[in-house]
Amino acid sequence: MSSEWEPVIGLEVHCQLATKTKIFCSCPVETGSDPNTNVCPVCLGLPGALPVLSRDAVELAIQGALALNCEVQPASVFARKNYFYPDLPKGYQISQYDKPYALRGWLDIGGKRIGITRIHMEDDAGKSQHDGFRDSDRYTYVDLNRSGTPLIEIVSEPDVRSADEAVAYMTAVKQALEFAGVSLCDMEKGHLRCDANVSVRRKGEERFGTRTETKNVNSFRFLKQAIEYEIERQIGVLESGGRIVQETRLFDANSGETFSMRSKEDAHDYRYFPEPDLVPLRIGEKWLRAVSSAMPEMPQARRARFRSQYGLSEYDVDVLTATRDTADYFERAATAAGDAKAAANWVMGDLAAALKEAGKEIGACPVPAENLGALVRLIASGELSGKLAKEIFPKMFATGGAPAEIMEREGLKQISDAGAIEKIIDGIIAANPKQVEQFRGGKSTVLGFFTGQVMKATKGQANPGVVNALLAEKLK
Ligand code: ADP
Ligand code: MG
Ligand code: ZN
Repeated sequence: MSSEWEPVIGLEVHCQLATKTKIFCSCPVETGSDPNTNVCPVCLGLPGALPVLSRDAVELAIQGALALNCEVQPASVFARKNYFYPDLPKGYQISQYDKPYALRGWLDIGGKRIGITRIHMEDDAGKSQHDGFRDSDRYTYVDLNRSGTPLIEIVSEPDVRSADEAVAYMTAVKQALEFAGVSLCDMEKGHLRCDANVSVRRKGEERFGTRTETKNVNSFRFLKQAIEYEIERQIGVLESGGRIVQETRLFDANSGETFSMRSKEDAHDYRYFPEPDLVPLRIGEKWLRAVSSAMPEMPQARRARFRSQYGLSEYDVDVLTATRDTADYFERAATAAGDAKAAANWVMGDLAAALKEAGKEIGACPVPAENLGALVRLIASGELSGKLAKEIFPKMFATGGAPAEIMEREGLKQISDAGAIEKIIDGIIAANPKQVEQFRGGKSTVLGFFTGQVMKATKGQANPGVVNALLAEKLK
């Protein structure tokens, strides 16, 4: 990028709320059902069907607003946003327009604060699936299972100045919503989708340039690519004397480029008007207090507590609070272990590696946190050596079994009984007079030979501390 130019970026993030049912009817929100099976007259948009607002959806939306430091409004109004599309049978989306339910929030990304202008609630459209491109099978299929799924749209201020900042902001949004339990935030399932508004201006210029809006970017990588491409494209146009057209664009993941979809619609194109079938949403102080008191601990607070309560390093804390599932798992393991640092090492080390290899999320971890804690305890008590623990752990991962059971079954108990080890050592010393001679003659490296023999005799199960102490004594 030529350094004369400064990008200006604002993001609109659509987030699917984690409700069991749709926002205006009681149809289930599910992925994987047969097409057009989770539908009813309301979400099919049949004439005369009346929407009823879901209390669950509102409560999650409120928690989302609180997680993003927004001011929840005592009164907000649903509005119809009218447009035609085959997967929008009502002919309008129910959204909020000039009176959204949340305003004026922010999120910090590495020392910089990104403003959040507003959040509004809305319903999702259905899905169009375009089939092959041969003339004979050029069909588009419409699946309305998604129609009526509750969303919040989070609109940022144009405070973002680079693709990397955009990714950091989106990451922070995702983390906040995930910790608050507002959304499952599964980007592959489209729970989070982002529209990227991008313009560029000459450095020092105060006025913003004309922006384009790239729609429906659904991964961090694509977000970075789309914005970087768009910045370069706009600079190219401007430097060759052209003008930026305000338009809506799409990102093509194959080429990494954005392309024009349509000229940008204006608000008046949507003929917004207040939804006549719904009363204004009133969120009184009592309700707001009840919902906010049910908020789980947010990432920043949790990081601070992990540092002070467990004495963990900055790095450990960041890794362990990356997702709520990780943080929850770690805390359960640490409690069971009675040693937070040791539990942290296992979670970030062997467990993370095993999960990665198995392609599993920690939320679906085959090792219950309590079992990992128990493993740490067995090491601390000397019943297991670190080496044996590393042998047992993969078996815990494969079977979900508790470490004590596996030790029992596999006969992997560490031998710490000094009497038993002493007997073995006496035998080895008696059988190897030459090595004893060498050691006593000053060749201290022979000690390794004896340790090795003891380990061999005990299949690696002798407690190394006890072995070393006894050997030192006997070989004196
Ligand atoms: P619309 O609903 O038409 O997309 P909004 O006013 O809601 O318009 O703005 C949408 C997003 O565009 C916001 O995130 C805002 O920060 C961003 N934005 C507005 N102007 C610019 C600009 N000139 N360059 C980049 N982003 C902008
Ligand atoms: Mg927009
Ligand atoms: Zn329905």
